[in-house]
Parts: sequence; C-alpha cells; structure tokens
Amino acid sequence: MTLTTATLLNWLRHAAALIHAQREHLTALDAAIGDADHGANLDRGFAAVVDTLPTLAALDAGAILKSAGMRLISTVGGASGPLYGTAFRRMGKALEGRLELSGAELAEGLGAFVDGIVTMGKAAPGDKTMLDALAPALDALKGALDAGEPLGPALQIASEAAQAGAESTIPLIARRGRASYLGERSAGHKDPGATSSALIIQALAEVV
Ligand code: ADP
Ligand code: MG
Repeated sequence: MTLTTATLLNWLRHAAALIHAQREHLTALDAAIGDADHGANLDRGFAAVVDTLPTLAALDAGAILKSAGMRLISTVGGASGPLYGTAFRRMGKALEGRLELSGAELAEGLGAFVDGIVTMGKAAPGDKTMLDALAPALDALKGALDAGEPLGPALQIASEAAQAGAESTIPLIARRGRASYLGERSAGHKDPGATSSALIIQALAEVV
C-alpha cells in the first residue's frame, strides 16, 4: 500500500481535531505535574497548521511536514512546540521530494520524527515524556511491518502501543521537562506529552 500527500494532510487535520477534542483533558494532565498549558498550546498550534493546509496541497511530503513543523515552532511555545516542531521538520527532511510513501518509508519518516525529539529533548525511555508513547509506537510499527502486516493494521498496532506507553508513564518519576521539578511528586500522574503523542499516532492510524 502506498500513501499519498493527501493522507499526510488528512493526518495533520485529524490530529488537530483529536487534540482540540482532548484540549481540556491535556490541560488537566499538565495542571497536575506542569503549568496547565499543554492542551491550549497544542490546540493553538495545530489549528494554525490546519489554517495553512490549503496552501500545502500541491507540495511534496517533505515540504508539507517541514511547513507544519515551522508553524508549530512559531505558535505552540513551551517545551512541546520546539519538540513537535523539530519532529515534523526532521520527518519532512527524511521524506523530501516524495509524493507517495510506502509503509517502510512512512516508518523511516516516523523514525526521523522520534529522533528529532530525542536530539532536541535528550530524554530516554522511562523519563516520563512523549518518548514513552512514541518509542514503543515506532518499535511496534517496524515490528508489524517486518512481520508482513499491511500498513493499516500495523499502524493500528502502533497506536495501541502508543496508548499503552502513555498509560505506562503514570507511575514514573519525571526526569525531563517541567514535571521533573516535582521529583517523586510527579509519580501517579499520566504525562501530558505522552498523551498528546498517542493522539498524534492515533490520528495517523485512523486516516490511513
Ligand atoms: P511546558 O512544560 O514548557 O509547559 P508543555 O506543557 O507544552 O510544555 O509540554 C509538556 C510535555 O513536554 C511533557 O508532558 C513532556 O511529555 C514533554 N517534554 C518536556 N521536556 C521534554 C524533553 N526534554 N524531551 C521530551 N519530551 C519532553
Ligand atoms: Mg506545560
């Protein structure tokens, strides 16, 4: 199965819709271990990305994703703006010039997305960040594709891994970002960034 750039535009639009619907939930999670801005920040940023989608329709995958990343960097703020912005920009760089993507190429692009977050945020799995949803999702996607699953089911498996990864942050003590200032008091709360990352992966699974 090959994806077109229309699927990427749908992904961004659907991610924005899921984030908008979960805005209060994301903000409530961030209120518990951060500064209560994650839902509002991401909703503002993804809405700004959606505003630009009509101008991106004729572009290649790389240009679409790099543009989305720039838009997120300039509108989201906080830790998550530069992190997600860099992730989309890196993914765009990996997919420069492509008008169609195979499953393997999409996985390669998502690998660059996750690398962008690691390079920028220096977090490791278990640090209670977005990486705790994204790393297992990427592993699950690659594993499913290697096992011969078609892309749709493989992304569904990845989305479930992202959800489970977000849940797995509840008992963890945060070692990166604002939540780390709380030390042990950060345990017992789900990480807002891991939760939004799971929504972004869910959005991709649902549009493919
Ligand atoms: P801020 O903490 O600046 O208010 P947000 O509330 O928008 O930023 O985002 C908080 C989320 O960002 C956290 O829940 C966490 O998942 C993620 N995060 C913070 N620091 C890092 C990092 N160094 N690496 C990866 N993710 C991080
Ligand atoms: Mg915050």
